[in-house]
Amino acid sequence: MRAFAGIDLGGTNIKYGLSDQNGKILINKSKSSHADQGPDEILKHLEDCARELLEYARQKKMKVPYIGIGSPGTVDTDQGKILGVSPNIPGWGGTNISARLEKNLNIKVHVGNDANMMAWAEVLFGAAKGYRNVLCTTVGTGIGGGVIMDGRLAIGSSYTAGEFGHIPIVKDGKKCNCGLHGCLEAYAGSDNLIAMARKEIKAAGSKSKYQGTLQELTVRKILDLFTQDDPGAKKAIERQAEYMATGFAAVIHLLNPEAIVVGGGIAEVCGAEYIKLIKNSLNQYAFEDALKGLKVLKARLGNKAGFIGAAFQKEKI
Ligand SMILES: [Zn+2]
Repeated sequence: MRAFAGIDLGGTNIKYGLSDQNGKILINKSKSSHADQGPDEILKHLEDCARELLEYARQKKMKVPYIGIGSPGTVDTDQGKILGVSPNIPGWGGTNISARLEKNLNIKVHVGNDANMMAWAEVLFGAAKGYRNVLCTTVGTGIGGGVIMDGRLAIGSSYTAGEFGHIPIVKDGKKCNCGLHGCLEAYAGSDNLIAMARKEIKAAGSKSKYQGTLQELTVRKILDLFTQDDPGAKKAIERQAEYMATGFAAVIHLLNPEAIVVGGGIAEVCGAEYIKLIKNSLNQYAFEDALKGLKVLKARLGNKAGFIGAAFQKEKI
């Protein structure tokens, strides 16, 4: 029997695991990525994770076809190399992950963009299983995405397809984490959600259920307040959903997908109510014909999606 080994590198943690060929998870682990220690140390940690997975598979007499890795940043998927800059991992750009790990582990190593890997997992085993034309997104501090067209993950001509968070929605708008201006991420990402919530909670005055100072407000607290029907938090999430809908409409008009998957903390906590906010807002921005039959779905695999998608990145549907 075959086992699929995946590693999801993040700025804080490395999540890694092994799955059988049906997507059933056999091991699921996490450790610090030590991103501040530089590329060489990170590579060592990735190698250790891979060795651990390979050893487990060996004991169970399972064959691992390749090691799959998901990384932040633009990834040259042909070479397994990081291009450009990843703000969360200093010095990571230029690192050839495949070359180093293949030499030391003696197994093929494939690398993809982390958000693309999540998208792929949701299509293979998660919320979008059974669909062939899908946009998957994940919302946190940053907004990541992946596009599946006709059953294949879109990589693009220079490896940057699916950068949903950097669709410009406002001309000369707010500065984004990527350095550009007016990106969706600058409006619908965590930083602006907190800024919007501060404003709305203040405006709600005594009607707000929030006890702390506005400076202490976090995404977690905003989401808790949303579930308690706090008017300020509700308004802020509603506005965030509207921004998301403008980004979704751009993709809908371009690709006419069958399904959109929304992942990350907001969708996780606010669930069906949040999905409804997005759908309502979409009516305002997208053609009725394009919305016919479109499913807007909550991601199902949570933070396991990254390593699962990485593990199966060379498989087909
Ligand atoms: Zn941007």
